[in-house]
Amino acid sequence: MSANAPTAIRPLREICAEVRGGKLSARARVDGFLATIAAKDGEIHAFNEVHADAARARADAIDAIVSSGRDPGPLAGVVIAVKDNIVMREGRTTCSSRMLEDYRSPFDATVIERLAAAGAIFIGKTNLDEFAMGSSTENSAFGPTRNPWDTSRVPGGSSGGSAAAVAARFCDASLGSDTGGSIRQPAALCGCVGFKPTYGRVSRYGLVAFGSSLDQIGPFAHSVEDAALVYDAIVGRDELDSTSADAPCDPIAPRVREPLAKLRVGVPREYRSEANAPAVAEILEKSIAAARAFGAEIVDIDLPLTDIGISTYYVIAPAEASSNLARYDGIRYGHRATLAPGEDLEDLYSKSRAEGFGPEVERRIMLGTYVLSSGYYDAYYKRALQARRLIKDEFDRAFTKCDVVLGPTSPVPAFPFGGKSDPLSMYLCDVYTVNTNIAGIPGISINGGFAEEGGKRLPIGIQLQAPAFAEETLLRAAAMFERCD
Ligand code: GLN
Repeated sequence: MSANAPTAIRPLREICAEVRGGKLSARARVDGFLATIAAKDGEIHAFNEVHADAARARADAIDAIVSSGRDPGPLAGVVIAVKDNIVMREGRTTCSSRMLEDYRSPFDATVIERLAAAGAIFIGKTNLDEFAMGSSTENSAFGPTRNPWDTSRVPGGSSGGSAAAVAARFCDASLGSDTGGSIRQPAALCGCVGFKPTYGRVSRYGLVAFGSSLDQIGPFAHSVEDAALVYDAIVGRDELDSTSADAPCDPIAPRVREPLAKLRVGVPREYRSEANAPAVAEILEKSIAAARAFGAEIVDIDLPLTDIGISTYYVIAPAEASSNLARYDGIRYGHRATLAPGEDLEDLYSKSRAEGFGPEVERRIMLGTYVLSSGYYDAYYKRALQARRLIKDEFDRAFTKCDVVLGPTSPVPAFPFGGKSDPLSMYLCDVYTVNTNIAGIPGISINGGFAEEGGKRLPIGIQLQAPAFAEETLLRAAAMFERCD
């Protein structure tokens, strides 16, 4: 598998410098990735759609800008895959759902516009759990993505295609969305870096809404520095997203390799859970030892509300989803059913929705509608919002004692297809990631090591979380851990 191949991955910083200096052709890079995709994506299925012609044309345009002596931008020649719930004018945006199978967006998401302006090249749209609901990419209406490290296993989800595309070296970096862990968990299972910024840091304009108070776009990459480069290009206020933050966002990539003096790493007792797979527990302890070795202070902390994260998230996210997905009625958006004689508008709505949505999406809509319905609102939705406040306060208290929180990203490594067949066992995969979104803080997963299973190496991720807007601390700390590998 290419993910195990010995060829070194070069920093994007170097690659961009060569493309901008005319020493490396963007077109040659695109052709190289397209050849790898043609050879291997039949097996991996990272992509819903490969935009070969558009990528070649864009690469030629970048090379022409360089030849004419103009500046193609800081990400010149960087080849990026995009999760198929982020809209682009090019191709379709399906959310891996029958509901949007033929949907073409009339506009580009803000992140797409910003990356294009920076000189990036888009190579295609990646597979996901339908509407980003899931942790394995098995909920895609177009078939699952396979983990490049072991194709009998899932890549994680919901951004499984974006994680697998980076791991299989189909692109330099990719974009995902993270509502409860969908960037960090697949990054962990595929052995790459996955970074969810603070809520509001990156514009959600053009991201198909799932849980609007939780959703955030972020990058997958081969290294923390590469992720920082992509992040620097997409971060910042956007008038088109009313929740977009107006906070300073100085570029982080140029400083990301500078170590932090006196880093305090908090390790919650609750993250050293007996429920963690032995390899996950082992790698967490190794990472703690590595942090001590590079001079960090390890602080034992408590996050007792870790436990209520899943129940809180699986009320708030479905509640918001049930509202957001009401727009797919077969009239304005989405698949339209054919009516039999005598059927009316009600039938059109219900038939279209029944045909367009898969089982997990239906379950979320039913759950969300239930917890918002009169009589149950106070018992479920209102309580979940109260729990959300407590979880946020608990993180605030923890961050008075430490600069970053260290733990596992996922309690288990990549599992076999069908390995989590009941919804609850799938939901429990998100135990370490959902509270980050509930609190609105940034989190990153980097590779911490490997488990050995059935003769295959399975990557294990470690997660760092930091206070809201402390991305620079988070990424610099992550780069310190990365150097310990
Ligand atoms: N696995 C979680 C869910 O199914 C998170 C998904 C996400 O972050 N988009 O809702």
